[in-house]
Amino acid sequence: MGIKTLKYGGLIVRPATGEQMALKLAIPNKGRLNERTVQILKLAGLDFEDADERKLYANVKRRDITVMFLRAADIVRFVHSGAVDLGVTGRDLVLEAGADVLTLHDLNYGHCRLSLAAPDALGIQSVRDVKDGSIIATSFPNMTRKFFAANGKRVEIEEISGAAEIAPHLGVADMIVDLVSSGSTLKMNHLKEVAVIAESQAVIIANRKAYAERQEEMDELVAAIRSVLDAENKKYLMADVPTASLEEVRRFFPGIAGPTIMNIMGRDDVVAIHVVIDKDKVYDAVVRLKKMGATGILITPIDRMVP
Ligand code: AMP
Repeated sequence: MGIKTLKYGGLIVRPATGEQMALKLAIPNKGRLNERTVQILKLAGLDFEDADERKLYANVKRRDITVMFLRAADIVRFVHSGAVDLGVTGRDLVLEAGADVLTLHDLNYGHCRLSLAAPDALGIQSVRDVKDGSIIATSFPNMTRKFFAANGKRVEIEEISGAAEIAPHLGVADMIVDLVSSGSTLKMNHLKEVAVIAESQAVIIANRKAYAERQEEMDELVAAIRSVLDAENKKYLMADVPTASLEEVRRFFPGIAGPTIMNIMGRDDVVAIHVVIDKDKVYDAVVRLKKMGATGILITPIDRMVP
């Protein structure tokens, strides 16, 4: 179907039909999720220029996708409202906003948990020990409220926009609910993690209506991202092995569809093998291959794995 144009007062206005508009993908413009998100999208073949301080969006070359650089928390709102079609953000932010969006895929980075933490000196072991009326500092008021209600506790919430761990020292709160990854910030501030409220990681989310209309394009994008994530756990291994060891090779390397075996010109005592293996099996594989008398062992990264 061609692009229809409507004439308004001499101006030619293109109607905003899904068919002709670029897919709007929002990604974090700074902060913890920015760098890795850009890296994955680039490996997935989306060729765009990174955000600098002033850049708000970038077009993906040779693809009908516009990348918008927004704050992680705003991405949830804009995907929910349909201002953008899909976005990469933290699951914690999706849960806090209670946004009715589709989670298309977990991205396996930005791992953290939303936890209740109390000053060591309070000696709190579990949420049961929290006294009614305690003041909890957090930038996650909705999840905090739900968590305490589910545990039958009445607490007061002191909403802050960051650095919750300082609040007990300032005397403005008794405890905090905040994101934790290694736990070192809590330790440094003499806070003890008392309960995990939710687990989080980076996710790619879509507006429900946009997904219903443009599922194929969005599934393609997610498949490209998945192919990068899958490839990162694998290595491509090549080696020349004695023909006599082929059975052992076959047993040791089931590979994706069994190892690929190739003849080497002028040799019938040695063949070349190519195989995809898990990253954490590389060390054992090399030891084993050397024992079989293999030579010319090469291990290389894989950019993408498309099934
Ligand atoms: P930003 O505030 O822009 O750095 O993004 C914060 C998001 O990064 C959070 O909402 C989480 O999804 C994610 N994240 C991962 N680890 C942590 C952590 N240790 N502390 C805070 N945020 C984290």
